[in-house]
Amino acid sequence: MEVFVRDIADKLESLAPIEYADSYDNVGLIVGSFHQKIRNVLITLDLTEEVFYESINKKCNLIISFHPIVFKPIKNITGKTFSERVIISALKNDVSIYVIHTNLDFIWKGTSDFISKLLKIKKEKVLIPKKGTLKKMITYVPVHYAEKVRNSLFEAGAGNISNYSHCSYNFDGLGSYMGNDKTEPFSGKKGVFHMEKETCIGVIFPSHKLNIIKNALFQNHPYEEIAYEIYNIENVNSYIGIGFIGSLEKKMNESDFLLFLKNRMNFPCIRHSHFTEKKIKKVAIITGSGRFGIEPAIREKADVFISSDLKYHDFFKSEKKILIVDVGHYESEKIAKNLLKSFLDKNFTSISIYESEVHTNPVKYFY
Ligand SMILES: [Zn+2]
Repeated sequence: MEVFVRDIADKLESLAPIEYADSYDNVGLIVGSFHQKIRNVLITLDLTEEVFYESINKKCNLIISFHPIVFKPIKNITGKTFSERVIISALKNDVSIYVIHTNLDFIWKGTSDFISKLLKIKKEKVLIPKKGTLKKMITYVPVHYAEKVRNSLFEAGAGNISNYSHCSYNFDGLGSYMGNDKTEPFSGKKGVFHMEKETCIGVIFPSHKLNIIKNALFQNHPYEEIAYEIYNIENVNSYIGIGFIGSLEKKMNESDFLLFLKNRMNFPCIRHSHFTEKKIKKVAIITGSGRFGIEPAIREKADVFISSDLKYHDFFKSEKKILIVDVGHYESEKIAKNLLKSFLDKNFTSISIYESEVHTNPVKYFY
């Protein structure tokens, strides 16, 4: 079966919608075309020149990179930096570059899911929920069509609140209208004032499903002019956001936990604050740079906070309330490659998906 860049992008975006990426981020197709037919795919954490040559050797014409090759707009491309040289080579060699980054971090089934399984942590909720991920729709439907419209909205992904599905609020009232000569009213006659018994249906839905929800409404509502309202709401979705918090199966003392963490995740070394002398049960994790997560983790009464790119003074924030742990940026995110490979392997069997063998971590340790 032929696979195109569009097919891979659609599948990845069904897992991690682009709308969930952080505002500073640059995700999606960065170089190339959605119409390109794919030979093989190479997955990498960072797209260096060495990784690019690997893609040529492995006959991959799509590179999926976790970190964006460009974050900010480029004014010229002359080859003065490695990322410009990679872009030039990609264009010359018909290699497309696709980025999936913070949108993979922000979803419940993304990087945090992978880590929680490795560390046998029962995930409870997101550490810092992302704002603006929920919307509300209100619509007015002739009473006898309310069930059909409501069900179509549920099927399209509306009405889910935590462990509850099919959530909506409904009440009946009277809608009024009068169509001009060009109308064909569903009830009543053109040019005649009409009142119709209608059900008002209110549902919430994830922002990225806006078009699907609107399509469901348009296809199932009987009116030629549909009355509906869509609002942005402040409510947070506790399953979308940065990092997560969860519990270990059993309490562990701090040194045992660090050894467990190091071995399970294959970390070369770990930096940490003074031991708190408390047992570890509640764990908060942000993969990648996460120093902004220390205070939220303390507020959530986590026993340990694990992240990377922490500064010297960050470790003072522990104050024996929490064990603060820095495992390294690359080290905390390298599992994204495994996650993407297993996801794509399951969905695309006619092409080869490779994980890059290049160790792209720019930080080296001297023992
Ligand atoms: Zn990163």
